[in-house]
Amino acid sequence: MSAELTLAAPRGTKPPRHLADLAPDERRDAVAAMGEKPYRADQLARHYFTRLTDDPADMTDLPAPSRERLVGALLPRLLSLVREVSCDRGTTRKMLWRAADGTLIESVLMRYPDRVTMCVSSQAGCGMGCPFCATGQAGLTRNLSAAEIVEQVVAGARALARQGTRVSNVVFMGMGEPLANYRAVLGAVRRLTDPGPNGLGMSQRGVTVSTVGLVPAMRRLADEGLSVTLAVSLHAPDDELRDTLVPINTRWKVAEVLEAARSYAKTTGRRVSVEYALIRDVNDQAHRADLLGRLLRRHLGGNLVHVNLIPLNPTPGSAWTASRPEDQREFVRRLERHRVPVTVRDTRGREIDGACGQLAANER
Ligand code: SAH
Ligand code: SF4
Repeated sequence: MSAELTLAAPRGTKPPRHLADLAPDERRDAVAAMGEKPYRADQLARHYFTRLTDDPADMTDLPAPSRERLVGALLPRLLSLVREVSCDRGTTRKMLWRAADGTLIESVLMRYPDRVTMCVSSQAGCGMGCPFCATGQAGLTRNLSAAEIVEQVVAGARALARQGTRVSNVVFMGMGEPLANYRAVLGAVRRLTDPGPNGLGMSQRGVTVSTVGLVPAMRRLADEGLSVTLAVSLHAPDDELRDTLVPINTRWKVAEVLEAARSYAKTTGRRVSVEYALIRDVNDQAHRADLLGRLLRRHLGGNLVHVNLIPLNPTPGSAWTASRPEDQREFVRRLERHRVPVTVRDTRGREIDGACGQLAANER
């Protein structure tokens, strides 16, 4: 039996506690409970968030006898790299991770001329069952811990630090529905955006939380006093179609989702992104573009919303595919006629199974 198999905890077990699961005062309490000076927690945080290291050998400011003990208790390795694939001349890199219990998780690092975006998973799998999404097909394995989410970004940041750059943006658009794992996602957002040495010091505006439309959690997020960007995966302007593309729509309807989006925009002053995967002959008709345009004008006006059209990335075994170029152009034109800001999202990472969940699906 390999060491990896021997060490793997049974699948679905709770991930080990990690510094990045804890707020600064909780870290100090945890260190004190081990009989160490509370300020050791701040030293550990500086190593992890600022120096991006969890190797005791790097921590010469900690007394040698405590080092291994503190690191063992608060900086356990949570993720090990299973596979890394890159494309777009190395500017897109997708990473497949294995957690301590064997669970597989994906993240993607995308380098643009002016920014570096890390796309992270918030759950292993997803329970929302959207039929066009590879992650949705496999169901939910488990929630990720805050630290497992942060660790994906730290891993990306480490790789970039060697090249002299940093992660500027994080999008919760990997596997999972972030608002169905609210506590851990919020914890991760705080760790990402808390200034160093308590966190990675990223800008809140550089973080995007994407949701399928869990209305109560959207309202709760609006009240957190954060200025993160909210993306709402709409994919259809009418309940009849959305009920089939986004099954949770049977619980919270289009109008309720857009009202929650509007309050988010009003409360935070942040423009909401509306995500719309264009699926040939399913949701890409001109009349749906008009309906979407009217609806967004009515609920959000032109200055509180931005539509991202995503050409569908077909998942294996599905009959659905991306829209014809002329239909996509017409869809854009109609939204513009309704004075709704719109862009067609680039389709980075297509040839490396860029659509969420595809890499993990292949591994299984
Ligand atoms: N669960 C959240 C976030 C993860 S999915 C959500 O649904 O918003 C991130 C985005 O990828 C969502 O907008 C989702 O609709 C989109 N997506 C999923 N599968 C896709 C596919 N096959 N092609 C294009 N976009 C897809
Ligand atoms: Fe889950 Fe988002 Fe995929 Fe729907 S699109 S199944 S909510 S990950």
